[in-house]
Amino acid sequence: MPGAQKVSENLSAQIIHDEPFFRAVADEIEIFAAAYAGRLPVMLKGPTGCGKTRFVEHMAWRLKRPLVTVAAHEDLAAADLAGRFLLAPEGTVWHDGPLTAAVRMGAICYLDEIVEARQDTTVVIHPLTDARRSLPLDKKGELVEAHPDFQLTISYNPGYQSAVKDLKESTKQRFVAIEFSYPEPSIEAEIVMREAGVEAPIASGLVDVALRSRNLRGQGLAEGASTRMLIHAAKLLRGGAPLSAALRSAILLPITDEPDLREALGAAIAASL
Ligand code: ADP
Repeated sequence: MPGAQKVSENLSAQIIHDEPFFRAVADEIEIFAAAYAGRLPVMLKGPTGCGKTRFVEHMAWRLKRPLVTVAAHEDLAAADLAGRFLLAPEGTVWHDGPLTAAVRMGAICYLDEIVEARQDTTVVIHPLTDARRSLPLDKKGELVEAHPDFQLTISYNPGYQSAVKDLKESTKQRFVAIEFSYPEPSIEAEIVMREAGVEAPIASGLVDVALRSRNLRGQGLAEGASTRMLIHAAKLLRGGAPLSAALRSAILLPITDEPDLREALGAAIAASL
C-alpha cells in the first residue's frame, strides 16, 4: 500500500501515513469510530471484494493506529496468532505472533476471514473480546494485558458459511457488527473510476455487468462479480485489453469453473453491453 510503512520486517504491522481512499456508503466510519472509542471488537460482515479490508486500512489511518492484518486459512493455528518458541543458536526463543504483537503495541488487529482458521484459534481471541482484554500465552506462562489502544476487528462472509464451518455463537456475540454489501451503482462506478482510472461510461458499463452477475447468485453462482473484479476488468481495459477479453479474464474465468454457468453469465453480460 502506498504511504504505509512496515513497523518491523517480521511483523505485518503497518503505520499508514497516506489516507487510503474509502468511499463510505452509510454510517460505517462513525460506527467503527464509536466502537473503537469503547474498544469494542468489530465484525465486518459482507461478501468478498466489497471494501472491508480497505475500510480497516482507512480506519487505522483515521484513528492513527498501526494495523496488523492476518489472513486466516484452514491451517492457521492458535500459535500462528499468539506465538511460539523457536530454536535459535542460544536455545529456544519465544517469538510473538502477530496477534500478540498487536496486543502489546496497541494496534488494530484485523483477522480476515477468521472462520477459515482452526477452531482453537477462535478461542484464543475470546479473552481479548471481553472485559479481561488479555491474551494468555499458555506455553510461555504469560498473561499479556492488552495495550489501551488495542482493538480487534474480524471479517466474516455470511455467504460462505455452512453448518460445519461457522463461527460459534459464543464468538459471534462478542462483536459489534457492521454490514458491508456492494454499494449502489453510481457509488460503485465512482469507486471503479477512481481505483482503475477509467472514464465514467466504462465504469458504469462494468457495474451493469456486475449487477447481472449478482442476479445469478444462488443459481449455482456462490457470489456475483465483486467490486474488486470490476476494478480488475477496468485495469485490463485501461491496459489495452479488448472488452470481451477483459471481462473473460477478470470476471468469467475467476468466478466459476462450471462451463454451463460461465456460458449463462457470458450471455447475461453480452446482453448488457
Ligand atoms: P474485501 O476485504 O471486502 O474482500 P477489499 O477491501 O479488498 O475487499 O476491496 C477490494 C477493492 O475494491 C479495494 O482494493 C478497493 O480498490 C475497492 N473498494 C471496494 N469498496 C470500496 C470503497 N467503499 N471505497 C474504496 N474502495 C473500495
